[in-house]
Amino acid sequence: MSSLLVKNALAIITVDDGDRILKNQNILIEDGVITYIGKEARQADREIPADGCFVYPGLVNTHNHLYQTFTRNLPQVQKMELFPWLVTLYEIWKGLDEDSIFYSSLTGLGELLRNGCTTAMDHHYVFPRVGSEHFIDRQFEAADLLGIRFHATRGSMSLGKSDGGLPPDELVQPVDVILKDSRRLVEKYHDPKPFAMHQVSLAPCSPFSVSEDLLIESAALARSLGVRLHTHLCETKDEERFTLAKKGMRPLAYMEKCGWVGPDVWYAHGIHFNDDELRLLADTGTGIAHCPVSNMKLSSGVCRVPDMLRLGIRVSLAVDGAASNDGQNLMAEIRAAYLLHRLTFGSGAPSGYELLKMATRGGAAVLGRDDIGQLSIGKAGDLFLVDATGLDTVGVGQDPGSFLGTVGCCKPAKSVVVAGREVVRDGRLLGIDEEEIAGKAQACAGRLNRA
Ligand code: ZN
Repeated sequence: MSSLLVKNALAIITVDDGDRILKNQNILIEDGVITYIGKEARQADREIPADGCFVYPGLVNTHNHLYQTFTRNLPQVQKMELFPWLVTLYEIWKGLDEDSIFYSSLTGLGELLRNGCTTAMDHHYVFPRVGSEHFIDRQFEAADLLGIRFHATRGSMSLGKSDGGLPPDELVQPVDVILKDSRRLVEKYHDPKPFAMHQVSLAPCSPFSVSEDLLIESAALARSLGVRLHTHLCETKDEERFTLAKKGMRPLAYMEKCGWVGPDVWYAHGIHFNDDELRLLADTGTGIAHCPVSNMKLSSGVCRVPDMLRLGIRVSLAVDGAASNDGQNLMAEIRAAYLLHRLTFGSGAPSGYELLKMATRGGAAVLGRDDIGQLSIGKAGDLFLVDATGLDTVGVGQDPGSFLGTVGCCKPAKSVVVAGREVVRDGRLLGIDEEEIAGKAQACAGRLNRA
């Protein structure tokens, strides 16, 4: 048995069912699971001193495209909205290869992990015809090097430009190839058990890049394999115009027709829903990955988060891909969400603490897990420490639960623990040599952008 004691925390923000915040207490993790929280500093193989620190449950990211880490901050797309932004970037993404997937995954997951995210989801949907067979395998390899929990999705595009879709024909795959690889990945990596480090979901990219038969068959396959379904939905008015023109119905009605509502489905963005559609999401338990920075950057709109929370819709928080963020920092996303909703909805906006909850418990619920997202006995030993002794944190101790939203944390976590194992110390990744990987990743990003 291995054990770790997080010792004498200034405040433990448990995000448990009682929303408890515990002062000067300890957390014992044994074999990856929390077995004790309390005043006693119990014996353990290793200790992390948490004096002067806030301890939070590890954050859960529910929508991302790690490959985009190599196409962030591109000048040519900075003033574009989603459709022209995608059409421009597809031309660069055609050049993705195994190395660019591996190093962009290490880079993006590393940045997430350093900033308190302990469970990361990725939505990879760009598969060039040559050399892309093992892209998702390389992502799992990168996640394991870092020690982060990883939810891959087998994304896909099947509706190319010549069939009326948005992506170029070179980036779409036949439905049977997609389904075969989806099954392979689920059988190889998906672990349905509690405390799983690897899971897989199926994730056709969006209504404007996949065919109707792929949506229907992906839903049937996911349900037969017992895995979840994910896609982009209601991100832009362009998408709404697309489904109205091609399918004669609004995006959610089209997805419902294809079998895409239910507690095993979550959508990225979910901005342009009307009142009836929000009620359908609530009634069916369909979840949302809210991506405020991406939505602001691409001028897509503001997700109706206060209405969603009032209706009991499951809402989580996510960074989206780094080409529309342009970073991978879920702590920073909490603060951006807080400010966006304060500006838009005033007193109806979620509090800093409600947004922390969205980024922890909300993420766990959307991913179908009850073993992560909170610090309670019997839950996973996933947490991070924020040093609250510096100039930037003077006075913030009055409300550590809201701190990440109201004040924001402008430095990496002091320590990050996943499954009882310390993977970040003093803001540095322990699984890799950061300088070496940054150098290799930079060279790889340069090659992709020159291709
Ligand atoms: Zn996305």
